[in-house]
Amino acid sequence: MLHLHNTLTRKKEPFSPLSGNEVRMYTCGPTVYNYAHIGNLRSYLFADVLKRALVLNGYSVKHVMNITDVGHLASDADTGEDKMEKGAQREKKTVWQIAQFYTAAFQRDIGKLNILAPSVWCKATDHIKQQIEQIKKIEARGFTYRTSTGIYFDTSLLPDYGKLAGQSRDELKAGARIELDPEKKNPTDFALWKFSPPGVKRAMEWDSPWGKGFPGWHIECSAMAAYYLGQPFDIHTGGIDHIPIHHTNEIAQAEAAEGKPLAQFWIHGEFLVVEKGKMAKSEGNFLTLNVLEEKGYDPLAFRYFTFTAHYRKQLAFSWEGLDAAQNALNSLRTAMQEVAHAPAHTEAFSGRHCDAFQKAVNNDLNIPEAMAVVWDLIKSNRPAEEKKATLLFFDRVLGLSLADIQPRTTKIPQDILALAHKREQLRKEKKWDEADAIRDEILSRGYLIEDMPNGTKITPA
Ligand code: AMP
Ligand code: ZN
Repeated sequence: MLHLHNTLTRKKEPFSPLSGNEVRMYTCGPTVYNYAHIGNLRSYLFADVLKRALVLNGYSVKHVMNITDVGHLASDADTGEDKMEKGAQREKKTVWQIAQFYTAAFQRDIGKLNILAPSVWCKATDHIKQQIEQIKKIEARGFTYRTSTGIYFDTSLLPDYGKLAGQSRDELKAGARIELDPEKKNPTDFALWKFSPPGVKRAMEWDSPWGKGFPGWHIECSAMAAYYLGQPFDIHTGGIDHIPIHHTNEIAQAEAAEGKPLAQFWIHGEFLVVEKGKMAKSEGNFLTLNVLEEKGYDPLAFRYFTFTAHYRKQLAFSWEGLDAAQNALNSLRTAMQEVAHAPAHTEAFSGRHCDAFQKAVNNDLNIPEAMAVVWDLIKSNRPAEEKKATLLFFDRVLGLSLADIQPRTTKIPQDILALAHKREQLRKEKKWDEADAIRDEILSRGYLIEDMPNGTKITPA
């Protein structure tokens, strides 16, 4: 049985869905004013492994991910610059163009990392109505007050405010940034709706029962999650930075609106850190997947790299670490290549290895331990067809495209395989013309590439 660490209870708990066989899961998506950095991508990789682990355990998953395309203010304290407008000024584009561009870039990145797309992508700007509806409910239940700048949530009215972080309101208050807004009743209070400043026409603003303006940051997630998944739903994920503010406030809003919990399990991934500390979009010290690719790394090497630490442990990024991951991935591909000729019996599993792998995965996603099982199998002398079936079983969670690996016996040169892999990526991105050009190039070098139901086949032409 799958056990997961629940931030809400601070315990590892057995997981089962609230109803039936379907797991309803929400993941806080990116703010699309810049590229995602590889720290952000670590968070989405962890959510992907979780989703695949749920599927391995026989559940279906309805997965919702939001795109934060409303310009929120650069600090968690609802003050400062608007991130989207800052991005637009930097690139001399409209905020809408910025959002569209970086949404597409994000979706490309997650495709390259074999992160399964969510069942529903939802943009904050497409769901202003649902956000206003949730604020109206919160207001009707007496949790709001009005200041000259917006409609605020009164956190002192919720006795268990802060339960996700395991902190009282006073403790959270002590950790909050210096508060500049004298109109707020409590430092932990936060905006549900911000008014457009008088005389200012904002690039993004909407009418509301309270006046023209824009939603506070937290409301989009609780409103869209409840809209698509119902309340309560099963699992809410995000990075650990979201525990004390964003998710704490999502819980406050949703529980105030409905009088019941928002989600059963809250699961948080630790940070990817760089030498200088945390990697943050707003701090300019971030690495993107593009940069890794330009340096010659395979995006899946980064996926593999994240498997070297448990998701609740910090992972320090280093180029040496990424080199080691790329080498390990290459060795794994070679191991697959050596057995890929064997008949594809889905039932030829090595029971011992499959059990050990699943046990590690089910123990709060212990992927480093699961990888040890993978290497134990590879080093063993189990028959080729057993190795092949078992590696493909592992790959349901690992997502390293092992099914695409061709048998060594066809002796396809490495550069042709690299071209075929590139073509596969382009096809995933629906760049058909570029993909066809690569197929022609492969043909001109004497190899025929055919698309089969379970991957591509390369044969001498
Ligand atoms: P953002 O676009 O800033 O809302 O962040 C997107 C996701 O990345 C959120 O779940 C964050 O918690 C997460 N995140 C931000 N920085 C890091 C980091 N350095 N390592 C891992 N996850 C991060
Ligand atoms: Zn969120």
